[in-house]
Amino acid sequence: MAGRPRASPALGVADALTRDAVEHWLRETDEARLETLWAAADEARRDYVGDAVHLRGLVEVSNYCVRGCTYCGIRAGNRGVERYRVSADVVLDCAHKAEEFGYGTLVMQSGEDYGIETDWLAGILRRIRRETGLAAITLSLGERPDDDLAAWREAGADRYLLRFETSDDALYRHIHPDLPGKVSDRMAILRRLQELGYEAGTGIMVGIPGQTHASIAADIELFRGMDMDMIGIGPYLPHPATPLGQESARRQTEDDWPPDQAPSSELMTCKVLALTRLARPDANLPATTALSLVNKAGGRAHGLQRGANVVMPNLTPLREREKYEIYPEKAAVHETAAAINDSIMALLAALGRTVGTGAGARRRS
Ligand code: SAH
Repeated sequence: MAGRPRASPALGVADALTRDAVEHWLRETDEARLETLWAAADEARRDYVGDAVHLRGLVEVSNYCVRGCTYCGIRAGNRGVERYRVSADVVLDCAHKAEEFGYGTLVMQSGEDYGIETDWLAGILRRIRRETGLAAITLSLGERPDDDLAAWREAGADRYLLRFETSDDALYRHIHPDLPGKVSDRMAILRRLQELGYEAGTGIMVGIPGQTHASIAADIELFRGMDMDMIGIGPYLPHPATPLGQESARRQTEDDWPPDQAPSSELMTCKVLALTRLARPDANLPATTALSLVNKAGGRAHGLQRGANVVMPNLTPLREREKYEIYPEKAAVHETAAAINDSIMALLAALGRTVGTGAGARRRS
């Protein structure tokens, strides 16, 4: 049962989690010591959020984007992307499919696409509310103006995901250029979302070129103080058709990494995930798709065993999914929603975990 933590030897790790200790763990290479970190994170996960894994069906609504994020494959400048925006009926089909598969909630994600008009999306939100029994609806549509966020909250959206990506300001500006005349301040938007009554989620990428161990320790420290309902952590995956992807390839060839560069490995991502579970034991933490791609055989399982309690199975129709390539191989076009669902259900059974029901909202500790 989730609830108050039991006193446990493993939680001794959490007690000692100063920022220095976090940074030390991020550099740890000793496998036996890392086992104690995984055990502590798994125990905190069990004690605070239980064995249920919440499944959130993902629909990638549009790959149009006005932004120039240097990491992202669907950035405006990538002329090689065929753009799409799904119809309201497609979103509704996905919502029904989510219900059929027993997922409690639906997540709508897209590029920052102002073709997603305020009223159009509000109408879809109302239809989902009316026509399905889904317990919660999550949006992840980028840095939309206050009025949109308020209208969508009013129309039935419950949650909003907006990763701050990195707390290193100079690095953030490098990978996430401002729009003309508008400084990107994701922390301010996250606060605004909470004022509007949304459950807010954030997160980072791990191993961005130029991101240090010290900087990730600062990110985790920030998570500790932020009161977020969900925190998504995935490895940075270089996309060859992006400026940052090309920078990564050059650095790789020339072995030219900044001092203290954190790797974008499965191991590093799991460390960040485990430390985040210990820093915010009651948060919802997904085993991300990006993590499942850096180790196709075991990434998702490792995530679930090292702190994660959420999975976001992809429901986007294959025709659109192959065009939502924020990073390489994201599409998994050979896998239908039903196949993805089967493999996740089999994994949960193998790990002795149950499927969460209902909204799966954070229960504050
Ligand atoms: N437009 C929305 C949704 C973006 S996709 C927004 O900006 O919030 C959701 C997340 O995918 C991003 O926040 C980013 O952390 C991650 N992502 C994008 N490109 C990536 C890449 N190349 N490698 C790893 N993660 C990536």
